[in-house]
Amino acid sequence: MASASSRLQRWSIPLLTLAVPLGFVVWAFPVGPAPIRAAGIVAGWLGCGLLLVSLLLMLREPRLAGWLGGLERMYRWHHVTGVSAYVLLLLHPLALAASNFGASPVIAWQTLSPSSESWPIWSGWLGLLLLMAGLAATFLPGIRYDIWRALHALLGAGVLIGLVHLILLGIDEPVLPILAAAAAILGWRLVRGDLGLAARPYIVATVRSLTERSVEVALRPLAEPATVTPGQFVLVAFGDGPAYRGCGEFHPFTVSSSGSDGELHLAVKALGDCTRRMLSITPGVAARVIGGFGGLLGEAEAAPQLWIAGGIGVTPFVAMLHDHPSRQPVRLLYFYRSEGDAIYLSELRAMAASDPHLTLQPVATGDELPDLGGLLPEAGALMDVECCLCGPPGLIAAAQQALEARGVTARHIHSENFEFR
Ligand SMILES: Cc1cc2nc3c(=O)[nH]c(=O)nc-3n(C[C@H](O)[C@H](O)[C@H](O)COP(=O)(O)OP(=O)(O)OC[C@H]3O[C@@H](n4cnc5c(N)ncnc54)[C@H](O)[C@@H]3O)c2cc1C
Repeated sequence: MASASSRLQRWSIPLLTLAVPLGFVVWAFPVGPAPIRAAGIVAGWLGCGLLLVSLLLMLREPRLAGWLGGLERMYRWHHVTGVSAYVLLLLHPLALAASNFGASPVIAWQTLSPSSESWPIWSGWLGLLLLMAGLAATFLPGIRYDIWRALHALLGAGVLIGLVHLILLGIDEPVLPILAAAAAILGWRLVRGDLGLAARPYIVATVRSLTERSVEVALRPLAEPATVTPGQFVLVAFGDGPAYRGCGEFHPFTVSSSGSDGELHLAVKALGDCTRRMLSITPGVAARVIGGFGGLLGEAEAAPQLWIAGGIGVTPFVAMLHDHPSRQPVRLLYFYRSEGDAIYLSELRAMAASDPHLTLQPVATGDELPDLGGLLPEAGALMDVECCLCGPPGLIAAAQQALEARGVTARHIHSENFEFR
C-alpha cells in the first residue's frame, strides 16, 4: 500500500499543473467577448499558468524536490508543461486574429502582423520567437550540453517578454503577480541553483582510481554537511587546483557511500569534457554541493528486488549495500563493457559472498546491447518484485520494455536516467 506521503508526492505535480492555470482562468475570465476571442484569451491565461508551473519545476531545491517526487520527475513535467504552455500561447494570437476575421481579413492580419508598428505586438512576437528558439533547442538531438543550456535559457527571456507584452496592452491583472512570480522563480534558480548560493562547501579529501576511466572522489564537509540518504545524488561544482581546472558548473553525481562525519564518496566516470578532467583531480580542490536529490530505491525496499545497473549506474545500488546489507532478496544484474571497465565489481563480489540475500549477476556485454530476454528472470519469478533500473537512457528503455513484456506493471518499475536535460 502506498503511504500518504508517496500519494501526496504522486499527485502534487498533476494537481499543481491543473490548479495554477485554472486559477488564472477563473481570476481573469473574459466576460463579454465573442466565443473565439474568449477562447483565445483563455488559451493565453492557461499558457501563462502552465509556464509558471514549468518554471517552478526547474528549481533545484532538495526539500521542494522531496515534496514533488524527485528532481528527475520535476524535469519530466517541466518539459510537458513547458511544451503545452507554448502550444496554448501560440493558439492565443491565432484565436484573436480568427475572431477578427469575420469583420475583415485585413483587421485579422493586423492583429498578427509584426509589421504593425506597435510595441505590444512586437513584444508578443519577440516573446513567442524566443520561446520557439528555446523549445527547438530542447528537442535538438546530440547538441552539446553547454550550447543546449544557453539556448534553453532563451525560454526564460521569452516568458518575461511575453508577460511584458500583456502589460504593454494595459492588462495588469493577473499579469503583474504572474510577472513577479516568474521573475522571482528565475532569479531564485539563477542565484541559488546556478551561482550556487544553495550549495554547501566541501573539499576533496582523497582521490582513488577505480578503473582507467573512473575515479572515486571523497568530499569532506567544511560546514554543515548536505543531507543525503543512500542512493541519492548531489549536484557538485568543483573549483580549480594546482594541476586541475574545475568546470565550475554543477553536475549530478550519485553518492556511492557517505560517512558519519558527512564525508561523501562519488564515483565519477569520464564521459565528457568535465568528467574527463576529473580523472586528474587532486586532494585540496574546493567543491560546492547541492542536494541530496532522488531516491531510486525509496519505499521499494519493503519487497524483493531486481536491480538492473548499466555501467556507472551501479552507484545507487552500491550506496544502498554500503549503507546496510539487503533486507529482502535482491538480484543485481550489472552490465558493463569489460571487467576492466566495471567499477566496484570486486567489492560487489565480496558483498554478495557475505550477504545471503544478495545475488550478483555480472554481465560483460562488450559493445553489444545485452540480451535482456535471456537474462531477466521468468515472469513467475517477477511477481511482486520491485524492479529498480539505473544507467544510460537506452538500457533503461530496453529493460523497461522487457520487464513490461513479462507482465511487470509500471508501478513496480522504478528508474533513474543518468542523463537529464
Ligand atoms: C541523476 C544522475 C546521477 C548521476 N550520477 C553519476 C555518477 O554517480 N557518476 C558519474 O560518473 N556520472 C553520473 N551522472 C552522469 C554525469 O552527471 C554526467 O556524465 C556528467 O555531467 C557529464 O558531464 P561532462 O561535461 O563530462 O560531459 P558532456 O559531454 O558535457 O555531457 C554528457 C551528458 O551529460 C549530461 N550533462 C552534462 N553536463 C551536465 C550538467 N551540468 N548537469 C546535468 N547533466 C549534465 C548531459 O545530458 C550531456 O549530454 C549522473 C547523472 C544523473 C542525471
